[in-house]
Amino acid sequence: MIRLERVDLRYDDGSEALRDVSLTLEPGSLHVLTGPSGAGKSSLLRLLYLGRRPSAGRLTFFGRDAEQLSRADVTLIRRAMGVVFQEHRLLDHLTVYENVALPLVVAGEAEARFRGDVLEMLDWVMLRDKLSARPSALSGGERQRVAIARAMVTVPDVILVDEPTGSVDPAMAARIMSLFQEMRTLKRVVLIATHDPRMAASLGAASLRLERGRLIGGAGAERMERAS
Ligand code: ADP
Repeated sequence: MIRLERVDLRYDDGSEALRDVSLTLEPGSLHVLTGPSGAGKSSLLRLLYLGRRPSAGRLTFFGRDAEQLSRADVTLIRRAMGVVFQEHRLLDHLTVYENVALPLVVAGEAEARFRGDVLEMLDWVMLRDKLSARPSALSGGERQRVAIARAMVTVPDVILVDEPTGSVDPAMAARIMSLFQEMRTLKRVVLIATHDPRMAASLGAASLRLERGRLIGGAGAERMERAS
């Protein structure tokens, strides 16, 4: 379980991206985070990826306070996360297959064991015929699908996705959505940021809304009164 308690996030230039955000993300839950551009969605994802620490409040990962994590702890926690951010960070000296396999290689798995899983993921995002291609030879939508396959292939504990269906057609979007549903069934934590307000309803997901850095209602959001 991931918990934010009254979290603020301020950048070095003083701009406040998140204000008093309280939120619990349980295993087996699927949350869709919406809000206008600049509302703080990417900042919240960054915080959950431990790319930023709260300026105030408390962030805990499965009972451990983010403030107390060493660099080695952060590396281990990140290995148990699948992330798809706007910049896909695919490696162009590797093929599509190798990019998707990378988290398994890093985890020390043997190719004989994981090859089938990688091919299954590539089938799921309909890129099996591109497995030897380099990312630079793919369209934007195809690169996004490689990033999604790479994020899911280890069935990570926590899945964080920014705009998953921005550049794919509706049929592909539906396939990708069913992957997220599957991850929820497998008791993973799934959080998807999007500016598409219809996505939560179509996924049957809990809906969270950010406006100017504040969480406005929604399941998982908690109201905490300031102790005085
Ligand atoms: P969204 O993803 O909802 O569009 P962001 O999290 O990117 O929102 O931005 C929230 C606020 O934080 C905005 O006011 C933005 O200008 C500011 N912000 C985002 N990233 C940075 C940064 N690296 N440095 C300073 N301010 C930032």
